[in-house]
Amino acid sequence: MKAAVLVEGGQVRVEDVADPVADGWALVQAKAAGVCGTELHFMEGMIPPPSDRFILGHESAGVVLETPAGSAVAPGDRVAVYNMVGCGSCRPCLSQRESLCVEPVGQLGFSLPGGFADVVRVPARNLVPLPEDVSFEAGALLACSGMSAVHASRLAGIALGDTVVVDGVGGVGLMAVQVAFAAGARVIAVADTEERARLAAGAGAAETIVLPGGEGYDGLPDRVRELTGGAGADHYVELVGTGQTLLAGIRSLGRGGKLVIIGYTGDHLDVHPIELILSEIQVITSVAASRRDLETAIQLAAAGRLSATVDTRYPLAEIGTALERLKARQVRGRNVIVW
Ligand SMILES: [Zn+2]
Ligand SMILES: [Zn+2]
Repeated sequence: MKAAVLVEGGQVRVEDVADPVADGWALVQAKAAGVCGTELHFMEGMIPPPSDRFILGHESAGVVLETPAGSAVAPGDRVAVYNMVGCGSCRPCLSQRESLCVEPVGQLGFSLPGGFADVVRVPARNLVPLPEDVSFEAGALLACSGMSAVHASRLAGIALGDTVVVDGVGGVGLMAVQVAFAAGARVIAVADTEERARLAAGAGAAETIVLPGGEGYDGLPDRVRELTGGAGADHYVELVGTGQTLLAGIRSLGRGGKLVIIGYTGDHLDVHPIELILSEIQVITSVAASRRDLETAIQLAAAGRLSATVDTRYPLAEIGTALERLKARQVRGRNVIVW
């Protein structure tokens, strides 16, 4: 089969590789795979690949080819692939927090061969059925940014009537806006361009604040207070992750507010504890998602409440172009490899 492999020097090349053998797992014929910023981290050497000629891609959907006996899905079923392969028996795995698994088998596209391949090998329990009215490409994107937004919202307890600031309108940010809106919250989105602000408004943000080029976070807390009658926000979902944006997040919150950290950079969060203590600010962090979060994301998509923004569709052979455009920050939403 053909697959896009990360080779030495950080290049991604489409090559012939051996067909995977199910060996107790399921095989899925790929139909769509999202191209994520994580791929660039591998190419730049920030994340070391587990082996030479490693198959990237951690957000995919397709049609089941083969499953072991007794599986909940059958050949021909349309599915999204949940990419975290937990041990299935530790406490986090048993309490639907597989992204915290103590002894994970691995993660597709990170430590196990991923989704940029004609056929994907994965445990059958990681396959989540896709209803007919949810496209393969939507299913693929829900399996990374969509489920991550659901996970963060669940951990933060975003509820009816809450005010939620979503800082950063990229792939996860756009999903976070929709998920918070679906939960009944009033969303204030912070974007670095007018165009991204318009995307956020279209996704359900009641208000948008544009900080051109990501400048001006010093003034953000005052603007959030103006929009909330002086109270500040209940939640601040942080996707940019610089020292400045994290601090602006804390200062934009009202009493008992929650800072929800998903994004990060090389920066540290430098804040005196008293700033948190006096308002009983809670700091919540969110990493990836559980299988249940992917199920919820798909359910929301089927109900028309969560959609994925696709920039451009590429065949696997043109993945290099998709990656170059992502690196040049020319992508709005996600580029998707389609079969
Ligand atoms: Zn991703
Ligand atoms: Zn586990």
